Amino acid sequence: MTDSLTITPIGHIESPFKQKFAIPRQPGLAPAAKSLIVMQKDYSHPDMVRDIEQYSHLWLIFSFHQNLAQGWNALVRPPRLGGNKKTGVLATRSTFRPNGLGMSVVKLERVITKANAISLEVSGADLLDGTPIFDIKPYIPYSDSIDDATAGIAQHAPQQPMLVYFSEQALLLFKKHDIPTGFRELIEQVLAQDPRPAYKQNKRDDKEYAMQLHEFDIFWQVTDNTTQVTRITPILG
Ligand code: SAH
Repeated sequence: MTDSLTITPIGHIESPFKQKFAIPRQPGLAPAAKSLIVMQKDYSHPDMVRDIEQYSHLWLIFSFHQNLAQGWNALVRPPRLGGNKKTGVLATRSTFRPNGLGMSVVKLERVITKANAISLEVSGADLLDGTPIFDIKPYIPYSDSIDDATAGIAQHAPQQPMLVYFSEQALLLFKKHDIPTGFRELIEQVLAQDPRPAYKQNKRDDKEYAMQLHEFDIFWQVTDNTTQVTRITPILG
């Protein structure tokens, strides 16, 4: 098919999210998530990003590479509907879509140039560590932001964020020097979103959950609208 397109990543993202579980469902929900877009060798030239600093935000076009093998479905179950109602895939931001392309607005923190190798530090991304980036474009408010846009079930950010508390063990860990900057804020922002499956919400839940952020396993439990981080341990090996 002449209309088909073969595309090659121009870079990859290094993000704190080492697994899909608990990644925020849209960008901007965890601003403490700092990521680095490392440009691929052929595209790692200062000319390619000249003048990009005048934009505070960027669009990232990327591949949901970890879901590609699972294909796509015409109907999906948006978490906002509690996971029990089906909606057309093109009426959602589901990752299981034809061509598996994602798009996210992120904040550009700075451009890093080291011996002609280019990387972009961004915040607020909802991308898995290692996600291939296919394109980067500036966010243009006059056109990309529409004041009177309506968005049905997705008009507002998810409500009733969880209150997040930390155990003594976790609080002690934050005092260590080798903890990533903004680590505590990142955990709070991620867990405030209540990443548990939709059917668990508003139900009694004794389970201990775990997620990986940076180089750590984070364990937590939920009672009503309170999340208690029970332990944080370095990922071994
Ligand atoms: N803002 C994007 C993504 C929305 S879905 C868009 O609208 O297109 C966000 C979810 O994508 C995250 O919660 C995470 O679980 C998933 N995700 C992120 N990177 C991924 C990847 N490389 N492969 C598969 N899923 C990914």
